[in-house]
Amino acid sequence: MRGAPSVWGDVFLKVVKNMARRAPRKMQASNTMRILMVEDEVELARLIADHLARCGFEVRLAPTLKEAREAVATGSYSLALLDRRLPDGDSVELIPDIRRAHSGVRVIMLTALDAVADKIMGLDAGADDYLTKPFDINELMARIRANLRRSGESAGEPPITVGALSFDLRSRGVCVNSRPLVLHRRELALLDSLIRRDGRATPRETLLEEVYTGEEEGFRSNALDALVSRLRKHLNESDAGVVIQPIRGIGYMLAKAQS
Ligand code: CA
Repeated sequence: MRGAPSVWGDVFLKVVKNMARRAPRKMQASNTMRILMVEDEVELARLIADHLARCGFEVRLAPTLKEAREAVATGSYSLALLDRRLPDGDSVELIPDIRRAHSGVRVIMLTALDAVADKIMGLDAGADDYLTKPFDINELMARIRANLRRSGESAGEPPITVGALSFDLRSRGVCVNSRPLVLHRRELALLDSLIRRDGRATPRETLLEEVYTGEEEGFRSNALDALVSRLRKHLNESDAGVVIQPIRGIGYMLAKAQS
C-alpha cells in the first residue's frame, strides 16, 4: 500500500483481508481460466489475486496502463478486472484493445468512482459489468462466475453474417468486411438483438427489454429511437450493407440492403 491510503482504501482492505482468510471453494469449471487484473493498489491487487488463485484462476497483474497494454498484447484472457484510475491513465482506454485481442472476453470494472455518470461512461465504453469499491469479495466472485457463464453460452456458434457485417455471438465482436467496428455498449446490445432475428421484425418491447435491462420505462422508450439512429449511422458510415427498417406497429428489423 502506498504512503497515505484513502478512507475507502482502508475499509476495502479490511473487507478483502477478512474474506481472504476464509478458504474459498474450488471452482472446478474455472481451472484453466485466465484473468487479467489491472490495479495499481499493489497490496489490494495481491489479496484479490491470491483469492482468485485459490479459486483456480490464473491471474496476471498489471499495475499501470502501459503494463496492461503489454499484458493484453502478450497473453490470453477469459476475463479482465479493470481499476479505472491508474497512475498513467484511465483503463477504459484499454477496452477496445482487449476486445480486439481476446474473443469472448468479459470486462468487469472495479473502481472507487461510484457516480452514476462514471458508471455509464464505463459501461458505454464497453465494460460488461461494474463493481464499486469497497465491495465484498464474494460478490466479486459471483459476478466473475456469472460473466464467465454468459461468455460460454454461445461458444462454438459461427458468426452471423448479413451484407458485409459479421457478428460473433460469443465475443460480440462486430466486423465489416473483416475490419473491426467498435460500437458502444447499447449500440452493441441493440445490434445483438436485431441480428439474432435477422430478416424478421423484433418487437419494440423485446428491444427495450434486451437493451435497457433494469432501467426506467419512460427513459428507455424515448431513447430507443435515438439509439437506432446512432447504430444506423455507424452501419451506413462503415458500408455494412445492411438496413434497419422501422416496422409499423411492431418494432424494427435488420436486413441486407438492396444493392
Ligand atoms: Ca487506482
